[in-house]
Amino acid sequence: MTTPLTFPDTAQRHSVNRRIVLLKGAAAVAAAGMTAQAASAASVTPLGQTGAPTTSTEPLPLGPLSGSRYPDSHLESMKKPNVSFGPSGFPAFAGTMAVERVATGMRWAEGPVYFPAGRYVLFSDIPNNRIMRFSEDDGHLSVYRQPSMNSNGNTIDREGRLITCEHSGRRVTRTELDGSITIIADKYNGKRLNSPNDAVVASDGSIWFTDPVYGIGGYYEGIKAEAEQEKHNVYRVDPKSGDIKVVVDDFVEPNGITFSPDEKKLYVIDTGFTDGPDNPSHIRVFDVDVGAGKVSGGKVFAEMPKPSITDGMRCDTDGNIWCSVGWGDPKEDGVRCYTAAGDLLGKIHLPETVANLCFGGQQRNRLYICGSTSLYAVYTSAQGAMKP
Ligand code: MG
Repeated sequence: MTTPLTFPDTAQRHSVNRRIVLLKGAAAVAAAGMTAQAASAASVTPLGQTGAPTTSTEPLPLGPLSGSRYPDSHLESMKKPNVSFGPSGFPAFAGTMAVERVATGMRWAEGPVYFPAGRYVLFSDIPNNRIMRFSEDDGHLSVYRQPSMNSNGNTIDREGRLITCEHSGRRVTRTELDGSITIIADKYNGKRLNSPNDAVVASDGSIWFTDPVYGIGGYYEGIKAEAEQEKHNVYRVDPKSGDIKVVVDDFVEPNGITFSPDEKKLYVIDTGFTDGPDNPSHIRVFDVDVGAGKVSGGKVFAEMPKPSITDGMRCDTDGNIWCSVGWGDPKEDGVRCYTAAGDLLGKIHLPETVANLCFGGQQRNRLYICGSTSLYAVYTSAQGAMKP
């Protein structure tokens, strides 16, 4: 049973589908009624690195990107010379740091998160209905969970547990340390969520997530369904009571979400441009009281160069915002880094549309980047702000 369509008009609905059509491939994945399972070593299948790929996507060459020499020309500074970017005192890259493709063979890579205890990255391959695991100690790529309920954004809480946004599950889940899965949020005001996209966990344990409609627009990245939440909200789940409440309700399509290191600022991406050319393609910043779950302000922090959009982002310990860029001019595909004041420090240029990123590595200084079919990595002089 579905409720009436809640898009403002059919043009917007078609635009959401248009984005899905833009994705490579045509195979639909059906996951309705299937139960996600915890990681199982017995189901591990090497991909890309050591054997034939299990997807129809032709694997790209691993290792340093073509044409690279030190300093890596894929790292562009807004200041010259182009050896590193950032203000004096904050060089983002040393001269011997270069971008590598560390895994490939996905259809649409999204939602990376790093687990320091195991030294691996988990990330979603949404159309293939699986969560992948990249082990940084030996470069091994394997399947962590399949089906994944077409998972999208992943993050980690302060106890080291996986938090996952599911398209076809239309919910946010937590994978407990014993592997069982707990539903964190799947309804608001008695109606199903649309399709949770990305999440962040505050130091008090509250879980903040976004709920656009991308995961219910068709059968490629989820299960086609009508939106039940009229507004595409940003939500907060209370760490003690589990209550869910709306913290922001004026987004066209809320997407990536992160806090400043002191948790006084909340950054949220609006990818509403996918619904129409006059809609936003930007990042907004709010003043936030994490414990009270209150936000205020919400001015535009950074505008993206349309038709490109940013989808996901992370903050470093200096308060700089690192965000994905893709879907527009190929010359803009990659990553951007902004100061907390909104000044563009530099760009990482990649050969594929980029969706999301996270910091990892034993020093939280290695940036892992989900770029369409591949996972990229580059060491930086910055460190990720969020500690598990
Ligand atoms: Mg996203």
